[in-house]
Amino acid sequence: MLCRICKSKGERKKAVIFIRHHRLALCKEHFVEWFERQTEKTIKKFKMFSKREKVLVAVSGGKDSLSLWFALHRLGYETYGFHVSLGIKGWDYSERSLEMCRKLSERIGRPLIVFDLKEEFGYTIEEIAKGTGRRDVCSVCGTFKRYLMNKVAREHGFKVVATGHNLDDESALLLSNTIRWEIGYLGRQAPVLPEEGGFARKVKPFCFLTEKETVSYAIVNNIEFLKSGCPNAKEATSATFKRALALIEHEMPGTKLRFYKEFLKKARPLFEREVKRELQLNECQVCGMPTTAPVCAVCKALERLRERC
Ligand code: SF4
Ligand code: ZN
Ligand code: ZN
Repeated sequence: MLCRICKSKGERKKAVIFIRHHRLALCKEHFVEWFERQTEKTIKKFKMFSKREKVLVAVSGGKDSLSLWFALHRLGYETYGFHVSLGIKGWDYSERSLEMCRKLSERIGRPLIVFDLKEEFGYTIEEIAKGTGRRDVCSVCGTFKRYLMNKVAREHGFKVVATGHNLDDESALLLSNTIRWEIGYLGRQAPVLPEEGGFARKVKPFCFLTEKETVSYAIVNNIEFLKSGCPNAKEATSATFKRALALIEHEMPGTKLRFYKEFLKKARPLFEREVKRELQLNECQVCGMPTTAPVCAVCKALERLRERC
């Protein structure tokens, strides 16, 4: 297959990717150009951030977050990486993910802020989950990562935090929330969550780009990323929703993108009204971070752990 853009200029260059829902075959150079243009378009459309703001990019060591850091840097934004070292020993997961983040940080010459759970709190994420009697490490991990993102953003003066969620993640989450009619979650699912009540603005500049596109972007730019996931990642329900959507997408290309875009345009504003009525934030009595309870979930978990020791 030949690159469509090169072809229109009378050149013959082999395509490295075929973007099915846009019926677009592109060579390496034009794919990178297209990908970064799409990212920039999303940032501008949703007024995510400007070139005058410093952006904290949450990086895990995987393809999406590292591609995001690389793309934002190439687009000229002032980026800082942020990584939570969870202390997961299995498959050398934490060690290798930190190494991937460090490599990119050195390559693009941008600082990486690392929060080491064991050093700072005295426990790894698995010890925290076990000590608090939670069998599902991932839900504890999600709570801690979200909390730390806000805490670090606040302490380092960042008003905006960017994450690498892609269209596959967002459409699977939307399907899952819709099937369960999770009104609160539906109202909060958006490319931008504004800065409010002590929380930094959360943005997802890759929300209209597929996983195939983000992984291709990482590969053509020689970004080293962790290919094997975390040993705690079991067959999550999100994978089932992703498979279901992939099946529909195969039969009807463009469904995922339409599903998500139409939700943002037509349905989300209705759910958002409900959320605004429902959410009441106060400061955590222990750490001062915003929470809906008197003491936030992280402080509660750490308190429980200390009581046991
Ligand atoms: Fe954390 Fe679970 Fe992801 Fe591992 S798979 S990094 S434990 S959320
Ligand atoms: Zn081309
Ligand atoms: Zn707290």
